Amino acid sequence: MYDPYIDSELNSKQTDVASYWQAVTPGQIHYPSLQQDLSCDTLVIGAGYTGLNCGLELAAAAQRDVVVVDALQPGWGCSGRNGGFVLRGTGRLGLAQLKSKFGLDTARLFHQEYGEAVARVNQLITAGNIDCQPQAAGYYKLAHKAAMAKDLAEQAEFLQQHFGYQAKFLTKSQIQQSVVKHQQADAAVHFPDCYGLNPLALARGYAQLAVKAGAKLFGQTAVRSILRQGAGFKVITAQAVINASNVVLATNAYTAKGFYPQLNNSCLPVLSSVIVTEPLTDNQLQQLNWQQNSIMMDTRTLKYYYRLLPDKRILFGGRGAITGKAAADPIYASRLLVALKRCFAGLEQLNYQYQWSGWVGVSFDDLPRIYSPEPGLFYAAGYCGSGLSFSSLAGKRLAQLVCGQRLPALPIYQSQLPTFPFSAFRRQGQQLYYQWGRFKDHFL
Ligand SMILES: Cc1cc2nc3c(=O)[nH]c(=O)nc-3n(C[C@H](O)[C@H](O)[C@H](O)COP(=O)(O)OP(=O)(O)OC[C@H]3O[C@@H](n4cnc5c(N)ncnc54)[C@H](O)[C@@H]3O)c2cc1C
Repeated sequence: MYDPYIDSELNSKQTDVASYWQAVTPGQIHYPSLQQDLSCDTLVIGAGYTGLNCGLELAAAAQRDVVVVDALQPGWGCSGRNGGFVLRGTGRLGLAQLKSKFGLDTARLFHQEYGEAVARVNQLITAGNIDCQPQAAGYYKLAHKAAMAKDLAEQAEFLQQHFGYQAKFLTKSQIQQSVVKHQQADAAVHFPDCYGLNPLALARGYAQLAVKAGAKLFGQTAVRSILRQGAGFKVITAQAVINASNVVLATNAYTAKGFYPQLNNSCLPVLSSVIVTEPLTDNQLQQLNWQQNSIMMDTRTLKYYYRLLPDKRILFGGRGAITGKAAADPIYASRLLVALKRCFAGLEQLNYQYQWSGWVGVSFDDLPRIYSPEPGLFYAAGYCGSGLSFSSLAGKRLAQLVCGQRLPALPIYQSQLPTFPFSAFRRQGQQLYYQWGRFKDHFL
């Protein structure tokens, strides 16, 4: 598997990920590769949610001449292979941590921005009539041990008190009665406006919206290098040269080694892995009292996230291998299956039918950035595995930056991603972090 920490190029010969989403999502449009040189106002590199939203916004709201290219097809990266959790937030810091770090007023601005991100996803689904099967609203953050219940109760109160957000605390028995019989959930907080959808259908819908708005979209067009040319850029792709006044890097965790060193050294590609089981029987679902298709994630350091899909399969995800080379090792999928069976009793015979993984971009300070590190060049990266809703808004914020507009006064829009110290040893650091995480989740 392509490994952006090691490979110096993402070429167009990568295979499609054999995901559940690929299997159940009809209607793929093949966007042809760019064969001839061209000039444009803005070139967006990467056609995931970030790049497509940037292209859409530049074409629709600013009437810019915008070209979006992807080394593969729209949604080939994270955007077409994620869990489909529309969450309120990004990065790894909750609002309480943001309040401690930046103060209450800024935490409130973050909260507002996160709400805007979810609203944007909803608006675009409606505007594009995107058939991405949004499920009933509701996200449960689950305490994976009794000691976390108090934290979750405080969190619900904190969200209600300071943000007027209708978070609700649930006890263990309330979870068993109204959500699902769960073996490892000692309490929960319910977030009412988050939900699950088909992420690949969303990416394809965004692509169609961007094209309809006037963006030119090319697939199978890998950018090899970006050279300064006067006030603009000369961008070399496999078959053609693009002259652009502005360049947007929307390559996030899929940015190849050395492609833009500052981004490489400040956004660590980390694998997230997913399994999708065979469908559960009605009897199994009844035994489990599985009542809602809500999305769930636990409070572990190395979190598990899961949901019941519309066709009664369970999607179950968590951290995977460290290197691309090890990603396909079945041990990681087997570990996820074991973890799933510890959560839900009576599924001893259940197997998985799909398994895949993808790279999420982790930043050093657990927060993403949308920033212009040099004139005419822009990037958004480092969502730390929580980027479905936020990347949709980040694309819009990037477009506003390109147009010279002011962004909301948030720290993530005011500085570049911090470089990791000892960045050459990040994978060793990751290894140690995983060991510590496993120990903490088990014993502390
Ligand atoms: C298994 C998994 C589960 C996840 N689950 C969730 C979830 O449930 N909820 C959530 O909020 N987030 C989730 N995430 C994270 C979320 O998917 C990402 O944050 C989001 O999709 C990032 O979008 P993006 O557009 O920034 O990047 P991507 O979608 O990764 O797009 C980057 C694109 O850049 C292209 N590219 C790279 N280099 C070049 C080049 N040189 N030339 C041309 N193109 C190039 C790639 O082909 C790729 O398509 C998950 C991620 C994974 C991997």
